[in-house]
Amino acid sequence: MKTIDDFNFKDKKALVRVDFNVPLNGSFTVTDTNRIEAAKPTLIKILEDGGSAVLMSHLGRPKGQSNPDLSLEHIVDTVSQIIGVKIKFVDDCVGKSVENAVAALQPGEVLLLENLRFHAEEEAGDATFAEQLSKLGDIYVNDAFGTAHRAHASTTAVAQFFPDNKCFGYLMAKEIEAIDKVMETGEKPILAILGGAKVSSKITIIENILDKVDHLIIGGGMTYTFVKAKGGQIGDSICEDDKMDLAMDILKQAKEKGVEVHLPVDVLAADDFANDANTKVVDVDKIPDGWQGLDAGPKTLDNFKEVILKAKTILWNGPVGVFEMESFAKGTIAVGKAIDEATQNGAFSLVGGGDSVAAVKQFGFENKVSYVSTGGGAMLESLEGKTLPGIAAIIGE
Ligand code: AMP
Repeated sequence: MKTIDDFNFKDKKALVRVDFNVPLNGSFTVTDTNRIEAAKPTLIKILEDGGSAVLMSHLGRPKGQSNPDLSLEHIVDTVSQIIGVKIKFVDDCVGKSVENAVAALQPGEVLLLENLRFHAEEEAGDATFAEQLSKLGDIYVNDAFGTAHRAHASTTAVAQFFPDNKCFGYLMAKEIEAIDKVMETGEKPILAILGGAKVSSKITIIENILDKVDHLIIGGGMTYTFVKAKGGQIGDSICEDDKMDLAMDILKQAKEKGVEVHLPVDVLAADDFANDANTKVVDVDKIPDGWQGLDAGPKTLDNFKEVILKAKTILWNGPVGVFEMESFAKGTIAVGKAIDEATQNGAFSLVGGGDSVAAVKQFGFENKVSYVSTGGGAMLESLEGKTLPGIAAIIGE
């Protein structure tokens, strides 16, 4: 795996795919700078080597049309502040004017190109467009993990024009390393905690992960499809009746593969899907009609904690309750705390994909786990066992 550390950028122009798809408010101010900060180490390395950087990104979904609301010009000042260099901007991403701006770029300078997705060819993965992009740098660096699962021109097709001069930036390298630590090289016992709303959205992950882990905790809304499939009473809890056979099959596969599955034994049930609903703790398989399980119960959390504290490698994807409502956030917080403790005791913990990242940030566990992935869809596809196109294009698979 070639990373940015394998190159010296002195007097070179780096063409860097970053993920600056950041949220903007009504006055076009960046409201969350995480993605820009995440790209900083890569850009600093290029500049400190004595190189220059040409940055390409998308912003929002302009669907192949120019759209002033989605211009990357809005973020120039924010990027300048974070990187500590006055960023130059050019109002397109291919063509003569862009090539001229790149030619004028001096070592230590950074040029941000206009939104790639103003051209439909970007999302189409068009080779001619990718070739035009490839003229804008000597070395191609992909540091956009958030779009690595898309076979777009700037993430994938462009790499073929840099047969020897392509590499991952630091962020991509860290993400790949974190996934590898769980899926390939993790110290045993390896535990996956899968929560979230539905079995159907996690099924490919579960099937892939059964070959990798020793323990599997299933929590959140997914629980009830399993419990009902096993003959339990789940009241009005969320359930996918058409996935009950699949749930039984997962349990069977887990047994055959020697994976210990830990399901909730009790739940905090509510008489309404509302923060101010009446609540009571009941056994997971004896939820009365008119009640629904919205969080893990105390015995369950004790069990989960015991499993978490024994694990040496932990993957967490999906909350174990409706954490958006304070009344049903305790389970997810308790899981976060146990992972924090396990991490302090030397376990490697990765949080990735979707709402668990939001939960981890909301409850302040971001710096307590080993790694929080920056890419929702890209992380989920990695956990499903897919090789992401943006990664394959660099490692040549
Ligand atoms: P996901 O994006 O698949 O990780 O699902 C996250 C969502 O699952 C969150 O919005 C949670 O509120 C929801 N969720 C977790 N537990 C439950 C539950 N017991 N009933 C309904 N929704 C749940």
